[in-house]
Amino acid sequence: MQKKNLVVIGNGMAGARAVEEILARDGDQQFEITMFGDEPYGNYNRILLSNVLNGSQRESEIYLNPLDWYRDNGITLHIGVQADSILRKSKCVLGCDGTIEAYDKLIIATGSRSYIPPIAGLTLENRQYKPGLFVFRTLDDCREIEQARCEAAGHDRHDAAQAREDRARRTRGKRQRLAPHRPALAQLPAGHVPLNH
Ligand SMILES: Cc1cc2nc3c(=O)[nH]c(=O)nc-3n(C[C@H](O)[C@H](O)[C@H](O)COP(=O)(O)OP(=O)(O)OC[C@H]3O[C@@H](n4cnc5c(N)ncnc54)[C@H](O)[C@@H]3O)c2cc1C
Repeated sequence: MQKKNLVVIGNGMAGARAVEEILARDGDQQFEITMFGDEPYGNYNRILLSNVLNGSQRESEIYLNPLDWYRDNGITLHIGVQADSILRKSKCVLGCDGTIEAYDKLIIATGSRSYIPPIAGLTLENRQYKPGLFVFRTLDDCREIEQARCEAAGHDRHDAAQAREDRARRTRGKRQRLAPHRPALAQLPAGHVPLNH
């Protein structure tokens, strides 16, 4: 049987989870799977970005689907490529790097964007946002905030890493004292509804 083309736009928590589920149902027998992800990473647990920022987890600890996973499952991932347009009549997705992917089935799982409310004083005269204004949605945002924090504190990279480790140790200690019996909510599997908490 000729396989159909499944294209997924968005390599975030929903897009990658949907593909996991499709694979679990032998979807790789039916589909050639292609994904567009505009972030330059595999899929990570966005919910745990706060832990990366507060230093209680490392970036490497929050990946759900590292790049090997795509390779091992025969998925073509256009990494760091934004899907620019969908040509519905010819059933193609165009990537910002000129990639063209034909689809039989298309999943759009592009999540949301950070919203900056129209607060006076946030923009320069040319309407660009002032330096020092950050949004917090992606690993890259997290890195920018961390970088600014280091610069503000006059730390070099080594001092910042040490400070993060110290914070992580303190945070872990506090967590254990406060809730020894309670699993961290953020580490529960997706779709799990914790009752009795
Ligand atoms: C710091 C933080 C903490 C959070 N904490 C919680 C929490 O405790 N509990 C909770 O329930 N939720 C939490 N959320 C929200 C949760 O992360 C989102 O609801 C979830 O990630 C949504 O999944 P998604 O796949 O729809 O979107 P996303 O995870 O945002 O994934 C969408 C992906 O598609 C990419 N994309 C968008 N457009 C294109 C395009 N045209 N081409 C290619 N790629 C594209 C995006 O860059 C992104 O990588 C938190 C979010 C953040 C940022």
